[in-house]
Amino acid sequence: MGQAARPAFTQDPERRVGDMVPFGDYLLSLFHYRCSVLGVSFDGELFVRGEAGYENARQGAVWNALTPDCYPELILWAANEADCVAAVKLARERGLMLSVRSGGHSGAGNHLRDDTFLLDLSGLREVEVDAESMRASAQPGCPGNELDLELEKHDLFFPVGHCPGVAIGGYLLQGGFGWNDRVHGLACQSAVAIDLITPQGELITVSEENEPDLFWAARGSGPGFFSVVTATT
Ligand SMILES: Cc1cc2nc3c(=O)[nH]c(=O)nc-3n(C[C@H](O)[C@H](O)[C@H](O)COP(=O)(O)OP(=O)(O)OC[C@H]3O[C@@H](n4cnc5c(N)ncnc54)[C@H](O)[C@@H]3O)c2cc1C
Repeated sequence: MGQAARPAFTQDPERRVGDMVPFGDYLLSLFHYRCSVLGVSFDGELFVRGEAGYENARQGAVWNALTPDCYPELILWAANEADCVAAVKLARERGLMLSVRSGGHSGAGNHLRDDTFLLDLSGLREVEVDAESMRASAQPGCPGNELDLELEKHDLFFPVGHCPGVAIGGYLLQGGFGWNDRVHGLACQSAVAIDLITPQGELITVSEENEPDLFWAARGSGPGFFSVVTATT
């Protein structure tokens, strides 16, 4: 962490005073510069309260537009797992409470809190299917219907939520009453491993064999969960 980057165009040895800089490069450089001033660079997009784009990111974090009157200090649209680890560490260093959004279908929008760091995982929606073992690993921002569309290609199925857009992040954390749940049980009962970031910023995989208590808690604690889930298998 803590990359001391100057805007790229100011470091160009060929550049002379008066040279034009493409506007996109200029904005991108300033963005990365601002991130490094904050002490950390992210691959995703960081919004600071009061700056351009922040209000759009805040309101967009709640699916039904009933946006609570709450204002996080920072909002990060995470691009990958490394961003999530860096976000947890930054929140810890700065004493900011971290809140997490996967799909944003929480009725109360309880991931929007005053003076917090909102880690928005809605861009993390990759799915990897291993048809032979009949296992899939999905990132938390993946909507249930997208997961099942991927599985359908292999003639497989997962009991996702009834409403197509509900992401599996929050859905699995709170149990998950999905299609055919009378046959398959709660969706979280089908999880065999969960990748998560602990409050200390450590990325680990929990299962029945490794950290079974954490694995147990990740399947039912819902908004009360105390780590960041980055993938479920
Ligand atoms: C229209 C609609 C239909 C629904 N249908 C169903 C249904 O058929 N079956 C069912 O069981 N439920 C259903 N729900 C409820 C839904 O499953 C929950 O609201 C669930 O929390 C939504 O998941 P999400 O990823 O959008 O959660 P979010 O709103 O993104 O997050 C909710 C909370 O979960 C925690 N959280 C989310 N992601 C993470 C993460 N990756 N790591 C750590 N903590 C996290 C945070 O505390 C956050 O505040 C429905 C909800 C709606 C609005």
